[in-house]
Amino acid sequence: MRARDLTRYCRDIGWTDPPALLARITKASYEPKPQPRWETLDELAREVESCTRCRLAEKRSNTVVGEGDVPAAVMFIGEGPGSEEDRTGRPFVGQAGILLDGMIFALGFERRQVYIGNVVKCRPPGNRDPREDEMAACSEFLDRQIELIGPRVIVALGRVAARRLTGTDKPMGALRGRWTSYLGIPLMPMFHPAYLLRNELAKRAAWDDLKSVRQRLSGVDSDSRA
Ligand code: SF4
Repeated sequence: MRARDLTRYCRDIGWTDPPALLARITKASYEPKPQPRWETLDELAREVESCTRCRLAEKRSNTVVGEGDVPAAVMFIGEGPGSEEDRTGRPFVGQAGILLDGMIFALGFERRQVYIGNVVKCRPPGNRDPREDEMAACSEFLDRQIELIGPRVIVALGRVAARRLTGTDKPMGALRGRWTSYLGIPLMPMFHPAYLLRNELAKRAAWDDLKSVRQRLSGVDSDSRA
């Protein structure tokens, strides 16, 4: 009902103060709804488990929120769960996960000492890339996750995560190895471990990027582009 019609209707039924009624209705309709504020990762994970905000909820077997230490010095963020992750509910399992473990070790950590998550928490069917609207629907979870984990450095794994977190559509070759930031936290885009398994030559670049992350963590920032 439009405001003018409502004013007329109020007068017809004898309401003597239509402006006050309008003010109340308008306030109730347009006041921004408070955003959910998950206080812990467990609370957030429970919300994710029942989430149907995007179409990826339809075919998932399990949500994959992420796992690791909290707070963590490093948070790795991939694009989304694959088939094994969907089956187990854990991030980066399988061959790519084994290589990621090696990369983590090169930084001087074990897997349980860092945090590993994804941009979207449900598997895109057929392992396709997550779509823009799916990443947007899931972004509130990711951003709050990052806040709760409080990493000193974020590592974006692969083109999709790198583009999502840098807010660009540049090719991976232009993104990797260059410090930027996300939510005020230093961000290093790197090749995805699954890509490294197929491209032996890219491992050299990945090693350089890991060295840069290690230097940043130890306070020896050779690159101040962030
Ligand atoms: Fe919800 Fe994210 Fe899963 Fe979409 S991908 S259903 S937004 S948890």
